[in-house]
Amino acid sequence: MSESAANVLSSHVSDRPNRVANSRMVDATQVLEALPFGVICFDVREDGEVMISEANAQALSLFDIINQDALPLAISSVWREKDVEKLCDSVRRTQSRRQATTLEWIKTRDNHEHYLTSHFKPIFNDILGTYQILCTIEDHTAEKLAEKNIMHHAFHDALTGQPNRVLFRNKLEETVMNGQRSDQPFGCAVLIVNIDRFQQINESFGHSAGDRFLISMASTLRRCIDSGDILARLSGDEFAVLVPRMTAIESVISTCERIHDAMRQPYDLDGNEVFTSVSIGVASTISSATHPEDLIRDADFAMHRAKLAGKARTEIYQRESHQEARSQFHLETELRRAVEREELQLYYQPIIDVRTAELHGFEALTRWKHKDHGFVSPVEFIQLAEETGIIVPLGRWAFEAACTCLKHWEMEVGQDRLVPINVNVSGVQFARDDVAKVVEEVLEKYDLPGHLLRIELTESSIMANPERISETLKKIRALGVKVALDDFGTGYSSLNYLHQFPMDIIKIDRVFINQLERGNPQHKILDMIGMLARSLGHEVVAEGLEDMDHIDMVTEMGFAFAQGFYYSAPVSSSDASEMVRGKLPWAKPPTP
Ligand code: C2E
Ligand code: MG
Ligand code: MG
Repeated sequence: MSESAANVLSSHVSDRPNRVANSRMVDATQVLEALPFGVICFDVREDGEVMISEANAQALSLFDIINQDALPLAISSVWREKDVEKLCDSVRRTQSRRQATTLEWIKTRDNHEHYLTSHFKPIFNDILGTYQILCTIEDHTAEKLAEKNIMHHAFHDALTGQPNRVLFRNKLEETVMNGQRSDQPFGCAVLIVNIDRFQQINESFGHSAGDRFLISMASTLRRCIDSGDILARLSGDEFAVLVPRMTAIESVISTCERIHDAMRQPYDLDGNEVFTSVSIGVASTISSATHPEDLIRDADFAMHRAKLAGKARTEIYQRESHQEARSQFHLETELRRAVEREELQLYYQPIIDVRTAELHGFEALTRWKHKDHGFVSPVEFIQLAEETGIIVPLGRWAFEAACTCLKHWEMEVGQDRLVPINVNVSGVQFARDDVAKVVEEVLEKYDLPGHLLRIELTESSIMANPERISETLKKIRALGVKVALDDFGTGYSSLNYLHQFPMDIIKIDRVFINQLERGNPQHKILDMIGMLARSLGHEVVAEGLEDMDHIDMVTEMGFAFAQGFYYSAPVSSSDASEMVRGKLPWAKPPTP
């Protein structure tokens, strides 16, 4: 750059032109060349041609001008790309309006895109007597690429490079919206593809092998789907496919078949042939909902159905036939949440000494007050909890809640006046949890003696695994905790249990009590059971006593304890508290 030209440019660039231009300390040419951005001085010829009159080295290299002496040059003679028009327009506009402007533009150089920002400023040149346009060019390519990179990571799965859940949802939303706007005769479908037994691959071959398997799984899926379909990885072993244009469900089913076929081929993992399969759930705007979130949920639900039906298959979500099952699915999710958030409550039903009408203990019964469905009976949710394994945390919670309550009463009336609480334990808990350890830990945590806690279990739960349960019960009894056989007289009643099993209490089921009439077979059987139990040293509790007649009969038979609506229905912990303190609503005042 010539010194005079540099002076012209530098006087425009600097906010304090005279100081820079006249400074003996700083050479204006050096300042311009040292700037980290390009600087150009444009002239607009009378015929409209935009001329590069002066430029620093940064700007010259951008325009691939090697020889500075070649200036001035018409911009169109050095650069013919389409963005040149944008640049020229900005120069001409700045000149005609005498107003500064800014332009963001992209210049492709050596097949790379450069993201540039230019500021244009009209400057009156005293020597030439015309306006020239001073333009700065800043290169933001590095920032732009970083930004793009961040965007890519935000929307793609790092392992497989496929779109992630966020991008999948966006695309689905877009597709559903476009479909609703147009009246074209097609819908869209969502496939949830879950790998069966992926955990086994991870455990047998290690996590890096598992990662390689997932990468190959992504390319297998890509091969099986149509080019317009969108594949995403939603989580660990779960992929999703969006079929944006679906005319008939049959075409989606054949895509699923292609996936199942491909999965039948063995996968070579470090020289080992690995066979696996996938379970696929499909929901479409034809068979399911039209809201994007609902589509994903329904496809996910169908995928779980495919797993339950034996894996390696496809299940299509059908609104009508799946509604009932889905409400159960919902209930399951909500029950899980209710346990986690401790939205359940224990109610307490008193167990009474029939001879003295004194309080002998309580049975803790779980209550779930659902925000929409109101009261959900334990008969309904305990079974669901057992089927889904939720019974394990629920059971632990019940022990905790019962001990919290005992501790509370202890503070109110002292330990001497405390009565025990019976906690129901289901067979599934014995199979899935270490009940003896849970009981031991909870007693220790609340610093309570074992005799204040009792457990109830049914005969049917014993039947599932008598040896194992017997072992657990021995450990529990060693803690001083008594064991009650619940619902005796229903199901498989076997007198064998009465002396074979490590237990202390028999609870006669209310169905049995309901059928009692003096002299009838049930009466005779119960009489005999009572005698047998007493001879074995077991305590007997009659359940479901609703009237005085029942009370009279069980008293005659020599049963010591009873529980039923005649005395009291299950009550809240604060009402139970009152009973512990001596307010017994069933006890009639003595007749004068
Ligand atoms: P269960 O252990 O046999 O409890 C007795 C059931 O009979 C309770 O029903 C109680 O409210 C009801 N009941 C008591 N007296 C009478 C009466 O005089 N008449 C009538 N008609 N019913 C009476 P609930 O509370 O509905 O519980 C049902 C079952 O759910 C329980 O039967 C128990 O097996 C199970 N359950 C409740 N809470 C839990 C728990 O926390 N864990 C487990 N594993 N099971 C539980
Ligand atoms: Mg019970
Ligand atoms: Mg019972």
